[in-house]
Amino acid sequence: MPKFESLTFDNGFSRLPEAYYSRVCPTPVPDPYLVCYSPEALALLDLDTSEITRPELIEVLAGNRLLPGMDAVAALYGGHQFGHYVPQLGDGRAILLGEVRNAAGEGWEIQLKGAGRTPYSRGGDGRAVLRSSIREFLCSEAMHALGVPTTRALCIVGSDRPVYREDEETAALVTRLAPSFVRFGSFEVFYYRNQIEPIKHLADYVIARYYPELAALSDPYPEFLRQVSLRTADLMAHWQAVGFSHGVMNTDNMSILGLTLDYGPFGFLDAFDPGYVCNHSDTSGRYAFDQQPDVAAWNITKLAQALVSLMSVETASDAIGGYPQAFGKAYLERMAAKFGLPQNADTAPLIMDALQLLAQNRVDYTIFLRRLCDFDSAAGALNPALRDLFLDRAGFDAWAARYTAALHQQGADDASRGQAMRAVNPKYILRNHLAEIAIRRAADDRNYSEINRLHTLLTHPFDEQPEYETYAAEPPDWARKIEVSCSS
Ligand code: AMP
Ligand code: MG
Repeated sequence: MPKFESLTFDNGFSRLPEAYYSRVCPTPVPDPYLVCYSPEALALLDLDTSEITRPELIEVLAGNRLLPGMDAVAALYGGHQFGHYVPQLGDGRAILLGEVRNAAGEGWEIQLKGAGRTPYSRGGDGRAVLRSSIREFLCSEAMHALGVPTTRALCIVGSDRPVYREDEETAALVTRLAPSFVRFGSFEVFYYRNQIEPIKHLADYVIARYYPELAALSDPYPEFLRQVSLRTADLMAHWQAVGFSHGVMNTDNMSILGLTLDYGPFGFLDAFDPGYVCNHSDTSGRYAFDQQPDVAAWNITKLAQALVSLMSVETASDAIGGYPQAFGKAYLERMAAKFGLPQNADTAPLIMDALQLLAQNRVDYTIFLRRLCDFDSAAGALNPALRDLFLDRAGFDAWAARYTAALHQQGADDASRGQAMRAVNPKYILRNHLAEIAIRRAADDRNYSEINRLHTLLTHPFDEQPEYETYAAEPPDWARKIEVSCSS
């Protein structure tokens, strides 16, 4: 395994013209220390775990020192925030250090979040607090393990430098990795400035690097837009199926690669609640759980608008026209697999009726589906572990009878169906209260063991891990008081 000093940088983004970013160095922090790291993410850079504890590398990941070959920049972007266009956003606290090319030939951009002020910081301090960094670190790696496209998190570096939010907290930096951090808003900013050339040039860059199969087309732009909308549809199917709520689906948080990006006030469903709003600041519920697929569709129209100098309005609307169908298909595929059902005309109503029952009875989404993996099709409604989750027993019995009939019609045996279902229904998700416990230990006692325990647990979310049974339970009563907002 190579040393970090021998990482090879090939900085595609910062070789673009300066219109897209500002060169800016991270602002150093005093006495940085390693809080946690992801061995799986380290491996993406071909780095061995022994590297990450080296003080020289911690200095780099604290923003105190650059490596030869790094070219630090903050990216410019705009975006629609809660429905309103904001012309000047950009990386206000994230700094891209450079892009590493690994032995497998993959490019991974290394970005520090919380690295200090940039020309796009507006009134902000350019910092991130430990609390939100822990949530982003754990969730990025948990989502990857769940099979959901996402940016990755390499590590958290902390510093006792104070950061002021509602209270005084301490600073932290998350090292994020992604093939690219380009967002819908990276295109919108130029559209609203009436600058056509930078839109084309950025589209050419993204296509050449990340959609290379389109590069040979004589007119690649409509297909590019179509591919982005299909990837976004697929991402939404993932989120809805796993019960993930992003919380701030502004167009500046929408990845051009269809990745989950910018973890802020996110949340996983505990009790199934279609109207769940994880972001305490989202008072109108714009980004409620069940709104996400439609919000993504709206966001894609904003991307299409930004690209309209590259194609006619009709072509653009045709390119994104397949989104609803693509989402519906991908969502049904995922949900049918989770319920162990074939994809036929009877399946969708059976699933939708189950979701309605879950909502009416406030049944835990993840626990229900995991227990459904053990459904005894000979016993029908007499599946007490499931039935006990519902107050409305008659409602459950009626549904269980239909489910039993569907399983019998399908003819698969319980054991093999259960096994397939357990591979798509996680036992462990990053519930808010689990993150909260890890945060309290870290912030109050400098004890990072709970972060590591959660990280290890959540990198195998589909496996039974009997020693961690309590981590699969419903949230305790105190968890209702947890509030997450944009302030991080
Ligand atoms: P978000 O909704 O968290 O993705 O952030 C929206 C915008 O605010 C982005 O341009 C961020 O870079 C910027 N921002 C958020 N927090 C800070 C901060 N503490 N300092 C500077 N900029 C920030
Ligand atoms: Mg953002």
